[in-house]
Formats: sequence, C-alpha cells, structure tokens
Amino acid sequence: MEKSTSTQIQVIGHQWAVDLLTRQATTERLPQALLLTGPGNVGKSTVARYFAQFLNCREDDKPCGKCGSCRKLVSGNHPDVRIWDDEGEAIKIDQIRELQRELALSPYEGQYRVVLLCNFERATLSAANALLKTLEEPNPQVVLILTAADSGALLPTIVSRCQGLALRPLPASEMVAALQKRWHISPEQAELLTRLAAGRLGWVIRALEDENLLARRERFFHDLLDLLAMDRAGRLAYASDLSHDSSLVKETLVSWLTVWRDLLLLLSDSQTKILNLDWQETLQSLANQSTLIQAQQMVVRLRAALANLEYNVNPRLNLEAVLLKMPKY
Ligand SMILES: [Zn+2]
Repeated sequence: MEKSTSTQIQVIGHQWAVDLLTRQATTERLPQALLLTGPGNVGKSTVARYFAQFLNCREDDKPCGKCGSCRKLVSGNHPDVRIWDDEGEAIKIDQIRELQRELALSPYEGQYRVVLLCNFERATLSAANALLKTLEEPNPQVVLILTAADSGALLPTIVSRCQGLALRPLPASEMVAALQKRWHISPEQAELLTRLAAGRLGWVIRALEDENLLARRERFFHDLLDLLAMDRAGRLAYASDLSHDSSLVKETLVSWLTVWRDLLLLLSDSQTKILNLDWQETLQSLANQSTLIQAQQMVVRLRAALANLEYNVNPRLNLEAVLLKMPKY
C-alpha cells in the first residue's frame, strides 16, 4: 500500500458524494447540516469522517492524512470532532444538550466543529426535538452530520433542514475490483463476499476482520438443513438454546433469509444470480423438494421475525414462530 504512514480516510465508491461535499466546502456554500442515508455498512460514516478530516486538515491537499488534525481525527482524539456511533444505544436528550453546550464554543484548534450522529433514527423523540434547535440556528463554524438507513424514519422537520445525500450500494464490479486490489482477496472469494454483502463494503470489511463471521454463516446453514428434517420438539429445543444470545438470533435469521430468498430465485426460474454461490448445489436440491409458495411464505415470515426483533419481541418466541411453520423434508 502506498503512504503507509498516512491516516487519510479512504472512501471507496460514492465518488459523487465526496466530489459534491469537497466542492461545496471549497468553492460554494458549506452545508451546515447533512443527512447521509443508505443501508447499513454502505459507507455513510466513512464519507462523513472523510469530510470531517477534509474540513479540518491544515494542508493544501486535503485531507493530507499526515497533519496533526488528520491524525487526531483518526485516533478519535480531535477536540473539535464528536462522533456518536454506538450501535446499541439511542442518543438521548441529555447527550444532545451536552453537545449543544459544546457547539456554542468556538473550535479549539480546527476550523470547524463537526458532529457526527450515526443511526439517528434510533434517537429518542425528545433528543430529535432538541436537535431541531441546533438545526434552526446554524453556527457557521459547526457542521452537523446525521446518518440514517432511511429519511422516512426521521422527523420531517429534521430532514427538511439537512442537505440529503442518499448513498447506494456499490456496483458489484467496483466492489470485486476494490477487494482484490486493496485487500488482496482471490477473485472467487471477492465475488462471493460481494454477493453476500449486497454492495455494502463495510460488511465485507467486518467479515474479513471477524473470521468467525463466515464460520457462523456456515454453521447457520447447516443448522437450517438439520432443522428442516427435525420434528416439533427438536425445533423448540433449538430455539430455546439459540435464544440465550439475541444478537445470534438476529444473525441466524438474516442468514436464513438469504437462503430462502435464493430458493425463491431458483424456484421462480429467475435470471438473477443467487447470493450463496458456494452452496449452489445444495440449494438446488433443496429447491427440488420445496414449492414456490413455501419459499415465499418463509421469506415473509423471516422478514416479519426480523422486524419483530427490532420491536423487542421475545427472541425465543420469535424464532419458534419461524421454525414451527417451516416445511419438513
Ligand atoms: Zn491533514
């Protein structure tokens, strides 16, 4: 890799968004509030962090990745940049108020105070309402960046005060090329990971960092094959076992959803390639035993179960509802 000592944040894809933001910051009017939307792990917070680095870099060729400001941003120690990226916890009104007190002060050492609030759809309603005040009275030295899966989940009064940037999944060819070039992954592995990630590069990076992720994917698939042959009692025991870890329940359901969607594709003679390319043969033989209706119903049930998990429906009951209605082969 070139520039081994550089801490420049690399954005792969989303070139239009990077070009727009840097142009606005240098020659046009700097947007005071941004809303980056797009699926999870598509690159929203990477684009936001790149922009924060760009705004506060002290060199001409921004972001240089070498100056004190660029380095502090990457190590999380920049006094003018605040990032709220807690996956589990929703931002609350007290935290917004604390941010507002900070934002009233001039930047310590950078040119701008930059606040990045990730997954803002999870913020409490009172927190979102409190943030409106900041959006209504923008401070020229503050740039506020929100991210969300979908602007429909936010208060319309917040959306209308932000410049929206909708990031889309990367084209498969771009992602396969980046994985081979930057991460030195074999063409076959790059192709498989690209399909599984559905254009979300961040998902692949997580998969590469967490070797167990691919091992778990394998395990969930074999569990599913076993469960298809099991009776009611076996399935209930499985649900009870797995539900001790609710994050595992979610991962399992997501993984099974990809399998049933692939079966749906195979059963409807679709020209679209399946996701789980490496399981093609097994999936084809499963498809031979299933009907189109069964696959459709399973996709609907798995989606409903995943939505229920978001609303804190008991993971075990949720899993049981899926498993007890699954066909038996
Ligand atoms: Zn710099």
